[in-house]
Amino acid sequence: MNFDVKEIRKDFPILSEKVHNKPLVYFDNAATSQKPRIVIDTIAEYYSRFNSNIHRGVHYLSNFATEANERARETVRKFINASSTEEIIFTRGTTESINLVAYSFGETFIGEGDEIIVSEMEHHSDIVPWQLLCDRKKSKIKVLPFDDNGVLEVGKLESLITDRTKIVAVTQISNVLGTVNPIKEIIETAHKHNIPVLIDGAQGVQHTNVDVQALDCDFYVFSGHKTYGPTGVGVLYGKKSLLEQMVPYQGGGEMIESVSFAKTTYNVLPFKFEAGTPNYIDAIALEKAILYIQNIGIPEIEAYEKQLLDYATEQISQFDWVRIIGTAPHKASLISFVMDGIHFSDAGILLDQLGIAIRTGTHCAEPTMQHFDITGTARASFAFYNTMEEIDIFINGLKRIKTMF
Ligand code: PMP
Repeated sequence: MNFDVKEIRKDFPILSEKVHNKPLVYFDNAATSQKPRIVIDTIAEYYSRFNSNIHRGVHYLSNFATEANERARETVRKFINASSTEEIIFTRGTTESINLVAYSFGETFIGEGDEIIVSEMEHHSDIVPWQLLCDRKKSKIKVLPFDDNGVLEVGKLESLITDRTKIVAVTQISNVLGTVNPIKEIIETAHKHNIPVLIDGAQGVQHTNVDVQALDCDFYVFSGHKTYGPTGVGVLYGKKSLLEQMVPYQGGGEMIESVSFAKTTYNVLPFKFEAGTPNYIDAIALEKAILYIQNIGIPEIEAYEKQLLDYATEQISQFDWVRIIGTAPHKASLISFVMDGIHFSDAGILLDQLGIAIRTGTHCAEPTMQHFDITGTARASFAFYNTMEEIDIFINGLKRIKTMF
């Protein structure tokens, strides 16, 4: 497909909105992405015409919605090239997916004195669930550090691994630094010691092709809402051999085979991990988001976003009063920065007045802030529907703010 950003923008109704009477420049895509009309329409259409609880009914609507939900699962399977839909579990999002693994894998495989390795650049959702597990099990977290450019010190992984290491959990792309981590190398190193690896793909799957079989990761997680789909739905991919051994995460309807007061048995995968009425309409809308970006082409998206990143980096680098936080050679399309004499929050508020939406603060990654001894950053994160002109507006906005301080 010929990449035509003007045409693409027409698919996203919110992009023609005004904010404070200025055209919206949406640079907060790492927090959540905007939705193409097909996603919005699918949600309205399903509630209007096909709503019915799935997996239970004998009637037309229930069967229709069930089939659509399972088709969505198949689309997700293909999207990340899992070998079976049994390995695709719908969750509420990345956070719930990691909590599920930390709980179920943790209850099954992790005991007192065992060790979990996470990286220093993780989002809180790939730190705190492991800490909760460590509190329960008296196990402990070890941290794989990154250097001052924001490059993970992968060479140190081997020295952190012991015979007590039970899992390695690492983000594919940092939501603060933009660093694209060498996850294949990390997985290979851990696998040499038979240690499973969880990849946090919250910032990965929308920017680059993901093939969980080629990566050979054991778990891969992502959120619908950062992938141009709805909020409240996400994915956990897990290898069948591990998921089968893991205890259920939550109990309730759907996840059981039979229940009695004497003995309850559990449903087959993936349903064993999907207790209660699932968020099927959002799963179906997520399928539409995936098909939408696949139609544009992930490699095309990646190439265009690289142009946006390069241009924005070049432009922002002209300011000697701006320091970019995260200068790894291989980055995804986001820039975190701090400014001499301007607090990131003030910059965020003033840019907002110009219609420019950026993120400010710790980005749920306080250890990353601690590494740089800062309290937060401003962050501009770009999606394939952003334009070079919007970057100019943002750069001019920064110039204007500077004159005010
Ligand atoms: N991991 C990373 C790297 C993220 O960027 C985010 C969201 N900022 C999360 C996990 C959590 O995602 P969610 O809030 O959608 O569960």
